[in-house]
Amino acid sequence: MTVETAKQQDIEWLVDNLNFAEKVERSLELIEQAWRLHGEGLVVANSLGKDSCVVWDLAKRVSPEIRGFVVSTRFWPEETNRFMRQTIEKHPELRIFSNDLKLPDNLYELDPDRCCDILKVEATRRAIEEMDVSGWITGLRCTEGYTRTDFREVEHRDAGLTKLNPILIWKEREIWQYLAVRGVPVNPLYEQGYRSLGCAPCSSVVRGGNERAGRWIGTSKCGGECGIHTRPLRPEHKE
Ligand code: SF4
Repeated sequence: MTVETAKQQDIEWLVDNLNFAEKVERSLELIEQAWRLHGEGLVVANSLGKDSCVVWDLAKRVSPEIRGFVVSTRFWPEETNRFMRQTIEKHPELRIFSNDLKLPDNLYELDPDRCCDILKVEATRRAIEEMDVSGWITGLRCTEGYTRTDFREVEHRDAGLTKLNPILIWKEREIWQYLAVRGVPVNPLYEQGYRSLGCAPCSSVVRGGNERAGRWIGTSKCGGECGIHTRPLRPEHKE
């Protein structure tokens, strides 16, 4: 079976009308199609958050050979670093990329866009280049927050690089349902009430709001994006 990737107007309908099993099936089919098309050029961007844990598990069901990369930063909480070490022990095919460039103090407060650009976007560009990626898989979902409503399941923003968002139409509840029924381990920080995880200075536990409401609180970036989903990722497109 070949999955027709949804037009934007259909995405909302799919979010509300496919059941859990249908969404799992659709996501597996999307990854399978991409695996047939890209082979070893298909790579999972694994942030080690709950959505990435789902996508990583789905990809491994399609083929244990699918590789992945983690972009880590010096500001990750210790719990996330520990979870990363445990994950990599099980999956040595996950490569870690980071940027050790010296930064001005508190850049994350003064200019969080610049900080994310250096620590996350640059490292992601390097991962894509060094791993010779032609298709990358993300855990982006359209119901996470106000910045995530306009994405598609398959995107071609950068020349020669396809982006696959195979769980775009999943709801937060379905993410936890999948993790529970499949027994997939998650970062212990979720026990503290976080709904979205990132660097320690820019992630908070909040009451109410959308899933990303606890990200970059008190800055112009509040509830926003680090840039890997919005900025060019091919070197020839660097600004
Ligand atoms: S999330 Fe915060 S600390 Fe991490 S790279 Fe972005 S601005 Fe810097």
